[in-house]
Amino acid sequence: MTPLTDLLIRRIRQTGPMSLAEFMSDCLLHPEHGYYTTRDPLGAGGDFTTAPEISQMFGEIIGLCLAQNWLDQGAPSPFVLAEIGPGRGTLMADILRVTKTVPGLHAALQVHLIEASPTLKAAQAKALAAYQVTWLESVMGLPEAPLWLVANEFFDALPIRQFTRDGAGWREAQVGLADGTLTLGLSAAAPMPKLAPRMSDTKDGDIVETCPAAAPIVTEIATRIAQYGGAAVFVDYGDWRSLGDTFQALEAHQMVDPLARPGSADLTAHVAFEALAHAAQNAGAVVSQMIPQGMLLGRLGISARAEALATKLSGDALKSHIAAFDRLTSPAEMGTLFKALALAPTAKLLPPGFDA
Ligand code: SAH
Repeated sequence: MTPLTDLLIRRIRQTGPMSLAEFMSDCLLHPEHGYYTTRDPLGAGGDFTTAPEISQMFGEIIGLCLAQNWLDQGAPSPFVLAEIGPGRGTLMADILRVTKTVPGLHAALQVHLIEASPTLKAAQAKALAAYQVTWLESVMGLPEAPLWLVANEFFDALPIRQFTRDGAGWREAQVGLADGTLTLGLSAAAPMPKLAPRMSDTKDGDIVETCPAAAPIVTEIATRIAQYGGAAVFVDYGDWRSLGDTFQALEAHQMVDPLARPGSADLTAHVAFEALAHAAQNAGAVVSQMIPQGMLLGRLGISARAEALATKLSGDALKSHIAAFDRLTSPAEMGTLFKALALAPTAKLLPPGFDA
């Protein structure tokens, strides 16, 4: 039992079963007991590790990709360099370090971070102490200006709804009570007009997930990019379209029961990039093809960067550097499970590495 278990049980007793989205949202961001609110979950001593935490190469490559695109778009000044869900600030620190030598770029940029967790905000402030940084509650607060934005493993942390096909309708996954403990169940079948496009590629019993919070966020970003210029790069695990149950909980790098310890385990779901792409297109931005992380990093020269860094290393440091390269790029690790998508004002202005 966690402090959140009690609160959730009481709420369900009063108002009935809650959707998976409500449950996830409380578990991750409850102001007192939420997972992200109360801890720094990243790294070896935490619950999961992300690409920027695995190797500086990830942030360097993404940083140079954004910088080249800023040059290709005429080096507008001032411009906003933003990140959503910056974790420990490692990716932004790597981006800022590697772009220092790009003439005019640092003089033009205004760093904005969108972060919900006070604990991680503090970690970001430490990692980025050398820079002037503005924190925002939401992307709605981003200035009306050219915008280069990155999000790594952000969208997977947003609450999802999960539906199981039942004839012409859908049954929604809900968290309820059985014998006084939290259990997952399904609502009665009901029509879901929003899932109409999925009637043709699913059958009875298939599971489809939606992420209601994602589209409004992408809309804000895409609107600015379409109007003022810039680009966004989203990297996450997932696929083009949601199919199957991808709701999962991680604690201390192990998969655990998502209901067992609310607020103590990281809850995520795979990202359906099609939904992000549609929101961006509807807001007037152009969207790249979705590309696997390994392929993108390969196109942007990670092998050359890895070799250059390797010349300065030996022994265990060299071994772990090679392991990190593999982890980021190999199909058996993050190389194909993770995908990237870019947004730009026009197809010609997509960042390097991305195809229209
Ligand atoms: N991008 C980082 C961290 C990924 S973890 C990395 O790659 O290492 C997810 C991040 O998103 C955390 O910083 C978490 O606090 C933040 N986050 C989760 N939900 C959020 C929300 N609704 N609004 C803003 N930030 C959120």
